[in-house]
Amino acid sequence: MEFADKMKILREIFEKDKEIDKIKNLEKRVPEQIKEFEKILEDFKNNFEKEKKFFDEIDEKRRELEKIIDEKKLNLENFNRRKKESHTNEEFVILQGEIEKTGEAISKTEDELLEVYFEKDEAKKKMDEAKNIMEEKMRFFEKETEALKKELDGSKEDLLIKEDERKRIIARLKDENLFRRYSRIKESRGTGASIIEISECAECHSTIPPQLFAEVRNCNRIIVCQSCGRILIYKWIE
Ligand SMILES: [Zn+2]
Repeated sequence: MEFADKMKILREIFEKDKEIDKIKNLEKRVPEQIKEFEKILEDFKNNFEKEKKFFDEIDEKRRELEKIIDEKKLNLENFNRRKKESHTNEEFVILQGEIEKTGEAISKTEDELLEVYFEKDEAKKKMDEAKNIMEEKMRFFEKETEALKKELDGSKEDLLIKEDERKRIIARLKDENLFRRYSRIKESRGTGASIIEISECAECHSTIPPQLFAEVRNCNRIIVCQSCGRILIYKWIE
């Protein structure tokens, strides 16, 4: 087998490896992405919980004030009844004083309650808004997660096919030394070769001297990038 043919096969291996690495990268990326979604969602959930707690507190305050007003109104009725039934002037004056005091207290509490109603409306608006955003994000992440999982499921089968294809290409190479060398570089650098069409390494982007570039094009022996050590393969081998 001519050396150029070996390099063509090595180029095929390189390209297959790139496809395989892309799938493997996906397998790593998907769980990370899902975790990231969960983290973001947690923030939106916490925000909603915070707004809900605030709303509940205000609503509790509203209930308390309404209860106070009801009680005071009952007192007022009581005082008025007793005033009608009073037998002494002294009793009448005391009850009249209580009635005025209670009336003032009711009116003050009602003012407070009005303020609370307003706060409650505002808090409800904020709470509903936080809920809408949270639910919207939940729906979005659910859809995204499903799509990612589907992609991952498909890729598992794809990976088996591509690894099988890779084995077949390697079997055609029939040059253990070349393959070993390629594998060693791949192991340490992530990729074992660099496919070039100009005098620049496609992987590390360093310049390839003209003489070396000419040799890569001629394709008679293994040439490695002087900078990154990857096997240089000319993209358009004849
Ligand atoms: Zn390089």
